[in-house]
Amino acid sequence: MALRSDPLEVIFDRFLTSRAIFKNRDVLRHDFVPSRLPHREEELSRVAEILAPVLTGTRGSNVLVYGKTGTGKTASVKYVLARLAEKCGSVGSSFKGIYVNCRLAGTEYRVLSKICSMHAVQLPFTGLATAELSNRLIESMKSHGSYSIVVLDEVDALVKGFGDRLLYELTRINELLGAASLTLMGISNDLSFKEYLDPRVLSSLSEEEVVFKPYTAPELRDILAERAKEGFAEGVVSPGAIDLCAALGAAEHGDARRALDLLRVAGEIAERAERKTVDEECVRIAWKKIEEDRLYQVVKSLPLHSRLVLLGTIQTTSKSGKVTSGECYTSYNALCQHAGIEPLTHRRVSTLVNELEEAGILICKIMSQGRYGRTKRISLSAPLSVIEKALSTDSLLQNLI
Ligand code: ADP
Ligand code: MG
Repeated sequence: MALRSDPLEVIFDRFLTSRAIFKNRDVLRHDFVPSRLPHREEELSRVAEILAPVLTGTRGSNVLVYGKTGTGKTASVKYVLARLAEKCGSVGSSFKGIYVNCRLAGTEYRVLSKICSMHAVQLPFTGLATAELSNRLIESMKSHGSYSIVVLDEVDALVKGFGDRLLYELTRINELLGAASLTLMGISNDLSFKEYLDPRVLSSLSEEEVVFKPYTAPELRDILAERAKEGFAEGVVSPGAIDLCAALGAAEHGDARRALDLLRVAGEIAERAERKTVDEECVRIAWKKIEEDRLYQVVKSLPLHSRLVLLGTIQTTSKSGKVTSGECYTSYNALCQHAGIEPLTHRRVSTLVNELEEAGILICKIMSQGRYGRTKRISLSAPLSVIEKALSTDSLLQNLI
């Protein structure tokens, strides 16, 4: 018999009663594609118009979709592809819709082999040269006469890491396909990525362009309200909580993903605290938690010398509140000596301090010292406990803390 004070029993019971908060958690996940996408009617129509020719077996234009993260690009494109496949089914035509997230795929080769495997190209276990993969893809598409729509999501990650060679290959494939055809759609979170493209690749990829604008706070409110209705039990989420998530998401470049994360985490917080409702306070706690998680990840992935500079700052700050750039350097230098690492110059460290400020970890203020000129005062702009926890994940720094 389990005792009431048994910790596992408590967890299980809490989970069972948690149904009171969530109705369907999956609805609040990133990759969930909702059955309606409010405030994206225009973008959905544009994408549908561009891809519609596949219904009659003609090639549509290549298209470049861009907009900031969380503006609904991925969800919208997946939605249109699903609807198009449905329509094709009902009129007896067919196409291959291939979706690849380039950032997750990681390399040109993996992107291309994913496209190949969707075209039933046999790939030997040992791998092939990229050029050979392209040839086999062309042969297979020709022999099957296939119409394909290839969506390269987060294509900016691919181009920044590997250049535009694969895009060049894919845009060129069409000229060699005869009766078959390939429509290419690139989705980018970053507009400046166009600068990385050869003009020929750019003009071929961006025969059409669709821009996704950031959401406004009222638009985010509608999106969240609809998701909340499906994801949470009735009446659990207060209107104030939705408004706050929408406002915070709007301030964060109109990002629906951030707003949804916030709502989901707020729900988890309410659940763990065994509250009956998700209110503004839960959202505020959720915001703090998400910010801290983000800070933790940023600090953890800083390069070694930046971490040493940060540790040096912390160790001097704990005595005097603020540190001068001179004190910071001395402390950094001592840490380097201690760890047996060659220290960087004053100037390089100054650059690292500026980068830490840009990352929202430090605050720098230039103070006048009267006739002694000016000096930089450095302080922490983020919770010390989180920074220390992130720094101590490194065994080298752990010894220095
Ligand atoms: P992007 O690809 O532009 O970064 P996503 O399509 O991944 O953005 O959208 C982020 C999250 O917000 C996803 O969970 C998505 O379902 C949701 N979302 C975005 N726009 C809408 C919308 N108009 N209606 C409902 N949910 C949306
Ligand atoms: Mg996306």
